[in-house]
Amino acid sequence: MTRIGFLGVGTMGLPMATNLVKKGFTVTAYDLNPEAVKAAVAAGMTGAASAAEAVTGADIVVTMLPSSPHVEAAYGGDGGIINAARKGTLCVDMSTVDPAASRRVAAAAAERGIRFVDAPVSGGTPRATDGTLAIMVGGSIEDFQAALPTLQAMGTNVIHVGPVGSGEVAKLCNNLVAGVAAVAVSEAFRIAEGFGVDPKVVTEVIAKSSGNTWVMEHMHPVPGIVARAASTNGYAPGFMTDLMCKDVGLAVDAARNLRIPLFVAPAAQQVYRLASSHGLARKDFTSVYTFLKPSAGTAPV
Ligand code: NAD
Repeated sequence: MTRIGFLGVGTMGLPMATNLVKKGFTVTAYDLNPEAVKAAVAAGMTGAASAAEAVTGADIVVTMLPSSPHVEAAYGGDGGIINAARKGTLCVDMSTVDPAASRRVAAAAAERGIRFVDAPVSGGTPRATDGTLAIMVGGSIEDFQAALPTLQAMGTNVIHVGPVGSGEVAKLCNNLVAGVAAVAVSEAFRIAEGFGVDPKVVTEVIAKSSGNTWVMEHMHPVPGIVARAASTNGYAPGFMTDLMCKDVGLAVDAARNLRIPLFVAPAAQQVYRLASSHGLARKDFTSVYTFLKPSAGTAPV
């Protein structure tokens, strides 16, 4: 059976790796946070004391880390994955990072005969738990096919987008839309509430109208409307405000490098940035709704 070295068993990585265990893969897990390793062991994985230990005997290495610097640190350096993995090992980075970072890591890996694909995911913790994530893959067709059985144990829609970095491009495009949508939905519901209109009814109307969006249907920012939404659970992530801020920022940075004018995404990015600096950094990103409270001013508007 395929042996997996899994690095980063946090909010997403733990349920993803747990699905690998359930489907018969042998998983050795490592995380900088010892509590996360303990949770992985409780879920049937072998705990490792270092990245090198987790990847040494692995056929496939999966990484699910917060952002580009974490990924570059985990793959590079003396104790990093590229040095520790056996030649021919296939590395699958499922984190959401800058496509340029994926390409740098892939090039460094290739120098040591290590294969690399980027395979970021969409769907959040409910679909990570159910094993129904959407997974968008950048890499050669051979590497994509080699990664497929592992990816299909974690997701149902696994799409080959193009060469290394392309999965991340698709992901940052998706999160630009989702990040902007969450701000727009929050704004809309603040207006509905301001008029005293029932948010449940407004939700029903939008769900059948041109403004319908996945974010409203599955991640409704108003508590009590969608049972599995983070808002209904005190905005426990889910997907943290800081991670959405990072993802919209990746899109904004990419557009700057490509000289593409962007208006809506940078505005959304600043909403997340401000929400983050006002105590919502580690809450679910839909908590921006709580941040867009009406002001109590008495002067005329
Ligand atoms: P998280 O912070 O909960 O988990 C990341 C884990 O990586 C942490 O446990 C951390 O200790 C560990 N880590 C960091 N550096 C490490 C290293 N060098 N070696 C080993 N472990 C290390 O974050 P998350 O919510 O699981 O997100 C992970 C990635 O998935 C991010 O890129 C995020 O943007 C993306 N993502 C998240 C969601 C979501 O709903 N949470 C959805 C889609 C994509």
